[in-house]
Amino acid sequence: MKILILEDSRTYALLIKKFLEKNLVFVECDIIGSFKDFQENSKEYDLYIVDYVLPDVQADEHIKYLLENNKKIIIMTQFEEKVLDLKLLDKVIDFVIKDDVSVINYLVRLVKRFYKNRFLNVLVVEDSKTIRAVEVSHLKLLNFNIFEAENGEEALKVLEKEHIDLVVTDIEMPKLDGIGLVKEIRKEHSIDDLPILVVSSVESVYTALKILKLGANDFVRKPFQKAELIIRINNLLEIYDYLSKYKNDSFIDGLTKVYNRFYLETNLENMFKLCPVKSVAMLDIDFFKKVNDTYGHQKGDEVLVHFASLIKNNIRKEDVVVRYGGEEFLIFMPNTSKKEAFVVLMKLKKLLEAADDKPVPYTFSAGISDEGETLAEMIKNADEKLYQSKENGRNRITI
Ligand code: GH3
Ligand code: MG
Ligand code: MG
Ligand code: MG
Repeated sequence: MKILILEDSRTYALLIKKFLEKNLVFVECDIIGSFKDFQENSKEYDLYIVDYVLPDVQADEHIKYLLENNKKIIIMTQFEEKVLDLKLLDKVIDFVIKDDVSVINYLVRLVKRFYKNRFLNVLVVEDSKTIRAVEVSHLKLLNFNIFEAENGEEALKVLEKEHIDLVVTDIEMPKLDGIGLVKEIRKEHSIDDLPILVVSSVESVYTALKILKLGANDFVRKPFQKAELIIRINNLLEIYDYLSKYKNDSFIDGLTKVYNRFYLETNLENMFKLCPVKSVAMLDIDFFKKVNDTYGHQKGDEVLVHFASLIKNNIRKEDVVVRYGGEEFLIFMPNTSKKEAFVVLMKLKKLLEAADDKPVPYTFSAGISDEGETLAEMIKNADEKLYQSKENGRNRITI
């Protein structure tokens, strides 16, 4: 993402550039120090971070100029009061007060949101056309994709068809009101899955509390300040970003980077039910204890990483690898008979034998099953076959 910093203090501009580029890999900043130089520059940017006061312009002439050219602007200013009075404020993304360096952290978060928001769908539910139009225009400035609904009923229809990342809803609406809507949404989407922001003018504190207790995440009172609406939305989405990152991380085994058992228990059962034909292979490294005892635990770890990548790099995209235990891995193969799975495992065995990047020489044994009423049963069957491979001398595959 290309950003222009229009700022006459070179030191401050460089500081911002450094912070943004260091923290956000997708950002590239240019610096221009005066309006005159800016007008001579024909380059286009995705975002303009603009000093409110420039030595060579009268008042906010440069900001008006940028707005006339439909630029996305973040204003930096030293004068809080002045900017809060500014009518232009509604037309820019946000403003940042330049009182100390810590403010730059806010700027980094803001730019990050601006970048990420274009991948997010927001549903605005509001019966007043005028208010809805205002909300939509604010949200568009923030780069969101917008869906609109006039009432709760319409909103539910949109939610059925579209993937929505945030719902912004009014309370008092005909047909289905905000309370009813939140109730319906929370039947389908838990609170860690879809955030809801309520924007309403209801007088009653009880109504506000009621909707929050039903599972709305936050509440903004109408008439609202644009800056408040935006910061609440940004804060909410930032938390959801972290949440989904940690959710994803919690499914991955730290050492081998394949799925862990928690993922198996949480997600694989559904996949199992959806596939009429499927196979499970259980793989176990032979004499792994000896690897640890002979070469040390660290070499043992390297073997595990090697084995996991060998599996991952040589199966289909739809196959799922799970680290099931210490040196036991499971491959879940949808639409695969046990004979086909056997071919896959033989290929892995050959590849391992031929691999010249093995940390130490090692082999594995495996068992394959394509039978079982439940996933657990199927795994148990594969485990029994694995046991046979071990009994019969290891380094082999049993179906
Ligand atoms: P078999 O051929 O019968 O499978 O023998 P084995 O030695 O591979 O099996 P056993 O179950 O006796 O030993 C597994 C060993 O795996 C014991 C345990 O210390 C080691 N192990 C489990 N997790 C890890 C790990 O994360 N890193 C390392 N280095 N070793 C691990
Ligand atoms: Mg209303
Ligand atoms: Mg073993
Ligand atoms: Mg084992």
